[in-house]
Amino acid sequence: MLAHLSFPVAQSRGRRYREKPHSYRNAYQRDRDRIIHSRAFRRLEHKTQVFTSPDSDHSRNRLTHTIEVSQIARTVALVLDLNEDLVEALALCHDLGHPPFGHAGERVLDREMRRYGDGFDHNLHALRIVEGFEQRYAAFPGLNLSFEVREGIIKHSRDYDSMQFPELNEYMLDQLPTLEAQLIDLADEIAYNIADLDDAVDAELLDPLSVCREVPLFERCMKETRVRHPSASDNLRFHEALRALLDILVSGLICGTHQAAEKSGASNPNDVRQLEKRLACFDEQSATVSHQLKVLLTREVYHSSKLEAARAKTDRQVAELFQWFMSQPDLLPDLYQERTTGELSHRVVCDYIAGMTDKFLLAKHSGIIETSYEGD
Ligand code: MG
Repeated sequence: MLAHLSFPVAQSRGRRYREKPHSYRNAYQRDRDRIIHSRAFRRLEHKTQVFTSPDSDHSRNRLTHTIEVSQIARTVALVLDLNEDLVEALALCHDLGHPPFGHAGERVLDREMRRYGDGFDHNLHALRIVEGFEQRYAAFPGLNLSFEVREGIIKHSRDYDSMQFPELNEYMLDQLPTLEAQLIDLADEIAYNIADLDDAVDAELLDPLSVCREVPLFERCMKETRVRHPSASDNLRFHEALRALLDILVSGLICGTHQAAEKSGASNPNDVRQLEKRLACFDEQSATVSHQLKVLLTREVYHSSKLEAARAKTDRQVAELFQWFMSQPDLLPDLYQERTTGELSHRVVCDYIAGMTDKFLLAKHSGIIETSYEGD
């Protein structure tokens, strides 16, 4: 399909610190393994995807979400003849920089950082993790990932302006990322739309009938399921329809990207970088479905009173902990305290909090803030 646009590992710009090639794993396979063996990757298990402290043990967390993104992105890459190793490494690290409590946690950290004329962005934080915070190798700091993986961490979901982010200049901000990196954002969108629908029905925030009302294609999937499995339970029919919808979205991403690539006239992976517009895209039908799902989930789930109430509490806890460490930097762990002499302390505090899992943050909050209130 698009083998001519696949980014070959042999063309990689390589690692920041030179290393001997491995005898049987290529550079992107090695990057994938380094990501999986990192502490930041394991911590994703205890970070919120959508449901914080869910009533059910079956809801996604950021680790299971990451695995789902990787599985979808690999399927798409395989069908399109793109570099599956690069796609897998990129998918596995796409959420590495997420702070505790999902996007709400990110917004609070950003708000606190703005008081100091700074900000928080999870892609930039992920880059800091793989470039420095992971300390596992004697020869270099961080994971020493290949250029295209680091570039993809930054550029998979948005563009950065080189005037505003001069420190990112080495990532060729005036060019698009590889087609492999472009796929990640849409594989992410498919994964969270389907998973959030599943988890929301499980949590009784949504029922399949209301999904049918707003997403006509889902209604069609439900009807087809009824014909094929007339005696199946409502629960099984819902899962059959959900799987059919997932298949439609993945196929739509494959077709849309294939069509856009054909139309663009790009004949090699370097042409992909020079184009005006990203090639990875849904076809018309799946773009409509994806939009309808987002609208429905935003209204009924992300802004539901149940999630809003939990969010108000965790927003306060993240902000209080940030302000506490700003006023008491001597309570930071030694490793972070050492950095406060050379770096701006709000950045050090932000790094410390962003790295926390939900449960670690709650334990810190109750250990420090709540105890100190009792003392007052
Ligand atoms: Mg994600």
